[in-house]
This record gives sequence, C-alpha cells and structure tokens, in this order.
Amino acid sequence: MLTPIVVGNWKMNNTIEQARSLVYPMSLKLREIKGVEIVLCPPFPAIMAVSALLQGTDIKLGAQNIHWQEKGAFTGEVAPNMISEYCSYVIIGHSERRANFGETDESVNLKVRAAMEHELTPILCVGETKEEYDSDRTSEVVRRQLNEGLKDISSSKAKDNLVIAYEPIWAIGTGLASSPENANAVLVNHIRPTLEKIFDAETAQSIRIQYGGSVNGANASEFFSQPEIEGALVGGASLKEDDFVAIVQAAAK
Ligand code: PEP
Repeated sequence: MLTPIVVGNWKMNNTIEQARSLVYPMSLKLREIKGVEIVLCPPFPAIMAVSALLQGTDIKLGAQNIHWQEKGAFTGEVAPNMISEYCSYVIIGHSERRANFGETDESVNLKVRAAMEHELTPILCVGETKEEYDSDRTSEVVRRQLNEGLKDISSSKAKDNLVIAYEPIWAIGTGLASSPENANAVLVNHIRPTLEKIFDAETAQSIRIQYGGSVNGANASEFFSQPEIEGALVGGASLKEDDFVAIVQAAAK
C-alpha cells in the first residue's frame, strides 16, 4: 500500500504573517501524526517563512503553480528552479488555473515535464465540469487531460514521482463533495486504466491518486475508506487548523 498524501492548497490566502500564525500551531499537531505524507502549498511569498517553521518536521512544501521555463521575459511568473530549494511538490493544472488563467492541456504538459526536470513532484489535477458530469462525459474529459498532460513522459520519470488529483470541478469550494463511491469509481474505471495505458501497470500502481473537492474533517474518513483513494487535495479546510488536522488524522487510520 502506498503512503497516503494530504495536500493543503491555500490558494491566494494568507499574508506571510497570517501564514506563520496558521502553520506554527498546526505543525505541532501534524508532526505527531505518522503514516501520512503532508504537503502544504502556501502562496509564493509565504513559502520561505513556512519552510523555516517546518524545519525538523516531515511536513513538506509545495507550490501552487510554476512556469515551464527556467528564466526569461515572463513577467509575473515563477520558474521551477526558483522554488525547488524549498518545495518538493507543485500543483499543476488546477481547474482554477485552467478556467481563469488560460491553462491548456499543452501548457499543463510543459509544466509537468519542467517540474520533473527540477525534482519537483507534480500533482496533476484533472476533473470534469458540472455540465460534463451531467452529460456523462467524465471519462472522456479525464482521459484527455491525462493523455495530453502526460505526453512524452517516460515511465521511469513518472514512477514514484507523480500524483494525480481527481477534482470534479463542481465539488471544488462548493460544499457539495462527490460521493466517495463515485470518486472511487472514476479512479478505478478511468484514471488508473489510463495511467496503465500511458505508462505500464507497475508505474501506474506507483502513482498516488487523490480526491479533491469539499473534503473536510467530517467527511474525510469516508473518502479514505475507499480502496483507490490515496489522499486528498484540500482547499478551504486546509486554512482551518482543526479541520486540516482532522483530515490528516483520518488519512492515518
Ligand atoms: C481545491 O482547491 O483544490 C479544492 C479541492 O478546494 P476545496 O477543498 O475548498 O473544495
């Protein structure tokens, strides 16, 4: 069994000072929980401050986005080599970036490849809109996002070095989580078989697949009791100490 991974995506929340106030007490509780990989993804300006507070713990840091180039005339962007000193993970292709910042499967693929080149493990987000869900197109959408987003990546690069987050867009930030059974079925029927086709069975088994979308302290254990769900990508609840600690505790059981 793979170690479950719980990722807190803070999105555009918390100044440096607010980040410190959230992380310090939270980390004292999180560091006591064993058997779960914990990753916090603050906004870029808070990464160094949070990193300093996490020294001596196993809690890891991730970024919420990267550019695929190492440097150049890309105003406002952050290169993978600029964060790899602090971060082990990077969220790529979050639906908010796809919907609001023009990210395409092609740019997502460039970012996944750049992350892997710089020893950052990509957390590749896939998931369908409400309209696509209602018209039974979940399979088509997640298969396309995986096939295009993981193009030209070798099995050896992906093995043990890739996380997939299944995030139905209609469940993100809405309080309307998918049913755990539905999420598990998407992983079993569409995501894992697609990974097997892109790579091979052994590599596909080494890739952890998380669920994301309105996970909180109260519903987390239902998701983790599903056989294929190996973690959670958590937005809103990662900004609340008690909720996030409860989610990580549920993953540890
Ligand atoms: C997310 O930001 O990826 C997310 C799943 O948000 P929330 O947990 O708030 O639905």
